[in-house]
Amino acid sequence: MKEPRWKGKHYAFFQNRECEYFPCHEGVAEDAFNCLFCYCPLYVLGGECGGNPVFRENGIKDCTNCSLPHDADHYGYVTGQFDRIREAMRDNDSEPR
Ligand code: SF4
Repeated sequence: MKEPRWKGKHYAFFQNRECEYFPCHEGVAEDAFNCLFCYCPLYVLGGECGGNPVFRENGIKDCTNCSLPHDADHYGYVTGQFDRIREAMRDNDSEPR
């Protein structure tokens, strides 16, 4: 099977091992731990993000147990959701600023 064009590219992978929280989530090998999407772009998609969120009683979405954006192999999945992110942002921002 052909590798995706982003595989092995520097723009698709970044690590900051100096970060006080590295690695901030469990479930991904340290060498494959991608910090590029530190603040997950999929957060705005609510329960349809494709990850493993938990919703607290107060409605806050808790991503503590999710490692989806930190897996180097998920770069294509995350960037493949940008049309959905744009639509979600448009729907959430009906008032012009
Ligand atoms: S970190 Fe995981 S659960 Fe949280 S928004 Fe991203 S994909 Fe969804």
